[in-house]
Amino acid sequence: MAKLYFRYGTVGSAKTLNLLAVAHNYRQQGKEVLLLKPEMDSRFGTGQIKSRAGLEMSADILVNNETDLMSRDYEGVSCLLVDEAQFLPARIIDELREITLLKDIPVICYGLRTDFRTKLFEGSLRLMELADSIEEVKATCHFCNRKSIANLKHVNGVATLEGPSVQLGCEEKYFPACYRCFADQHAKVRSGV
Ligand SMILES: [Zn+2]
Repeated sequence: MAKLYFRYGTVGSAKTLNLLAVAHNYRQQGKEVLLLKPEMDSRFGTGQIKSRAGLEMSADILVNNETDLMSRDYEGVSCLLVDEAQFLPARIIDELREITLLKDIPVICYGLRTDFRTKLFEGSLRLMELADSIEEVKATCHFCNRKSIANLKHVNGVATLEGPSVQLGCEEKYFPACYRCFADQHAKVRSGV
């Protein structure tokens, strides 16, 4: 049976770059890979998977609420690579698990562990429950040199815990942060400094 992988990290941990490198390696060997991402993630234009480093590839499957992954034909496919997996509903993660079992194709999911309130996303929670392999893609805190574990949300330059956890607009900024810097910035906002 093929494996289900969850490679998680904070913003800025080069998860997408990692995904594109894996896709490139498969394709260079003449193997077919399918790239998936949630349809809602439209930051870089629908249909593109683009890393902050500038590399991009087209997504083969845009997943929405109606998507039925089990009814597709995976003949000749060596691997499924999933970007922004945190935004997927648990139902789709269950289907990806079934693909490793019934179609014997490995599925590698990349995504955030938690939102800016340090809460698990739905897709990440289900992946934590079901994945054979859970690996951290490490990044450094934006404010010091510790490892980042949280995603700090800034609106107009100030740390905030307000707003929906799924917000893909460009007015707010997200920074990788260690827990100390995350807590310090929120404490400053609370004390009005
Ligand atoms: Zn820090």
